[in-house]
Amino acid sequence: MKERLATIKERIQTIAEACHRKAETVRLVAVSKTVPVEIVKEAIDAGVTILGENYIQEAREKCNALISYPVSWHFIGHLQSNKAKYAVRLFDLIHSVDSLKLALEINKQAKKINRIQSILVQVNIAREASKSGVYVEEATRLIEALSPLENLAVRGLMTIPPYFDAPEKARPFFAALRELRDQIERSAIPNIAMDELSMGMTGDFEAAIEEGATLVRIGTAIFGARK
Ligand SMILES: *Cc1c(COP(=O)(O)O)cnc(C)c1O
Repeated sequence: MKERLATIKERIQTIAEACHRKAETVRLVAVSKTVPVEIVKEAIDAGVTILGENYIQEAREKCNALISYPVSWHFIGHLQSNKAKYAVRLFDLIHSVDSLKLALEINKQAKKINRIQSILVQVNIAREASKSGVYVEEATRLIEALSPLENLAVRGLMTIPPYFDAPEKARPFFAALRELRDQIERSAIPNIAMDELSMGMTGDFEAAIEEGATLVRIGTAIFGARK
């Protein structure tokens, strides 16, 4: 575990420095879906500080088991509105907000427990029927609608590009997310930050970093293949 993690951190650092970015501007989200608690503990002991989970029930059990561990939890899966009440209790950042309905529910549930929930808007950059996320042309309108919501803090964008065997093929989709981010940033919508770009997984995170990723979501390279 220690070695695998060190290798990934080194790859992140090398690529960040090669494009004149500070290594600290790229944060590693260790994707622990389906990984047993004991192994997640090893990862935390080896230096993982952010865990990414896809399923609410699984995340609730893990959070409880790891309550005393100094780690930040991010939600990266598809979130149904009726699970928003759990999500706001568990996660520091929800990467996958893809509708006004969901955002309104997160805002409402966050208000109930008196917190401001940080979120990213998920963009379906390649318009794949199988993926969640808003289309590029819908993103600005959604974000404008989120601007007045007092218990939401929009911090940036997230995407999952199509799966390719060659990471270079994912690059144009990462670049497109960055360009969308830049465009939204120029619109200077009140109360909206565009600092975070969540993109890049085991197979393509280096290209994602070169295109501006600030959060890379890596599972397989840390924990091995999922069953
Ligand atoms: C599972 C998952 C990942 C991690 O994928 P790996 O290829 O195992 O690194 C990243 N992002 C999301 C949204 C995922 O569901």
